[in-house]
Amino acid sequence: MKQLLKKLSEAPGVSGNESRIKDIIIGEVKEFIDEIREDSMGNLITVKKGSGNFKVMVAAHMDEIGFMVKHIDDKGFISFETIGGFDPRSLGSQRVIIHSSKRDVLGVIGLKPPHITTQEEKDRALKVEDLRIDIGLNSKEEVEKLGIKPGDSITRDISFSELGKENIVSCKSFDNRAGCAVLIELIKKIKNPDFTLFGVFTTQEEVGLRGAKTAAYGIPIDFAIIIDSTTAGPIPKTDADKVTISLGKGPSIDLMDRGFILSEKVKDILIKAANEAGVAYQTHISGGSTDGAAVHITKAGIPTAVISIPSKYIHSTVEIIDLNDLESTLKLAIKSLEIAKNIL
Ligand SMILES: [Zn+2]
Repeated sequence: MKQLLKKLSEAPGVSGNESRIKDIIIGEVKEFIDEIREDSMGNLITVKKGSGNFKVMVAAHMDEIGFMVKHIDDKGFISFETIGGFDPRSLGSQRVIIHSSKRDVLGVIGLKPPHITTQEEKDRALKVEDLRIDIGLNSKEEVEKLGIKPGDSITRDISFSELGKENIVSCKSFDNRAGCAVLIELIKKIKNPDFTLFGVFTTQEEVGLRGAKTAAYGIPIDFAIIIDSTTAGPIPKTDADKVTISLGKGPSIDLMDRGFILSEKVKDILIKAANEAGVAYQTHISGGSTDGAAVHITKAGIPTAVISIPSKYIHSTVEIIDLNDLESTLKLAIKSLEIAKNIL
């Protein structure tokens, strides 16, 4: 799963501009499915037909947080809008890629050197509106010649790397390319199921679960599993009640987040599945939200589980995950589908 995750996490796909990550996913799954389609929100809906009437959806969002070009000034500096949740402190001194209609252009979000920064400026929190992207050109005309214009999407430029152990890796966008990697492997692994599997790669999760709303509405679903990633530790100098799960201890069965409470019935299915599959798991109350919040209240309600992959420094360019947690997530999801079919 490592090479797949590298390919997915380095690829661009800011909310609303998911076509390039989508093409990579299509390339990975097309031989393993019976049907593939997109809806008007750009969700990628794959179908693997099985015997029986039970229908399941396993969904992972494929969009990532990023930026959009807002304005180019006379000196060629580019101001931008954020897409998704950023801490402005994490934005300075980053390299970014502007995806213009002509080509990808590298730029940097530069900060004033310490030599010419006053103490007052150093003490003040960074604000997005004070930051600019510099592509090393000196006029608006030169920038525009590269095809760059307002509305172009911008991603963070960082390469996938292995840290202290071969299973511990770091990159941007593990939220939620890690979930996409698990879903791709799940689609490849499930053969001749006795249920129909809708493997759905959703769009625009990071800006308000928008893709999942239309995707879940458009397909018949008896049971849904959302695979996403969530804040894990250990993180230095963070209270134990702030980050309650850890890397390497298995996926989280999410109990609650800001838009979702796990039902007793679905919780029983997940725990039974974890026990039968011999998968270690954690439970977690998240301060965020996932596509599960949108899916479980679609139509007359859909029994839904959210399985989260533990990730450190989430929503930064240096997220860290343990690849063993991805393997456990895959096992837990597959077993949960088998058990749900007999209970729901
Ligand atoms: Zn996510």
